[in-house]
Amino acid sequence: MKQQHQSFDCGGCGSNDRFLLHNVRHRGSYRRLCTNCILKTHQGHFCPICLHAYDTSPPPSHARLTCAKCPSVCHLSCATSSSSSSSFVCPPCLNPNFTFFEVNGDTQMDAGDDKRAMDLGSAKALVAAAKIAASSMIKAAAVARVEAERRVKEATLAKKRAREALERLLYLAAKEKERDSKKVKSTNDKRGGDKSSNGLYSRQGSNHGGAGN
Ligand SMILES: [Zn+2]
Ligand SMILES: [Zn+2]
Ligand SMILES: [Zn+2]
Repeated sequence: MKQQHQSFDCGGCGSNDRFLLHNVRHRGSYRRLCTNCILKTHQGHFCPICLHAYDTSPPPSHARLTCAKCPSVCHLSCATSSSSSSSFVCPPCLNPNFTFFEVNGDTQMDAGDDKRAMDLGSAKALVAAAKIAASSMIKAAAVARVEAERRVKEATLAKKRAREALERLLYLAAKEKERDSKKVKSTNDKRGGDKSSNGLYSRQGSNHGGAGN
């Protein structure tokens, strides 16, 4: 099952640590991302210094610093005293190789025997990523619900249109039938009149024929 195996890889960096992947809805599509990729694609959703995930919105403007290079927002209290509002650059922007999450040791997870060590920073990053993923999926569920309701409405409307079209078709078919039967009747009437005269003509014709012979 190649596809199943693929879904265990991080959709961002390809890391295949399936026990540490989060489900998120990012830019309109569902993805499975590792902690590091979640945090790197959700700047502004958490403080890059203390790794606290913001519940609804980032801290107010007087209590935060925004990265000069990306939308990342950190607590003013977390920034070093030397950073000012114009000079703050978040850790991933300072160092492209920066990683929020690192697990040391044996990466093979045996059942009941996890030998890996996680430092406090990585544990905090994991919690922040899990919180961001959870709120993203809650939003996605709301979007999906609205979408489902819209589809139900569309389906109901389509059904109504189909019923109306069918009614119209039946009505037209009935009308057509009625017109046809009238036409047939009037043709029959005409033909009946013709028949008598035809009989007369044919008789005359046969008489003619007889005379000709
Ligand atoms: Zn990743
Ligand atoms: Zn902070
Ligand atoms: Zn940044």
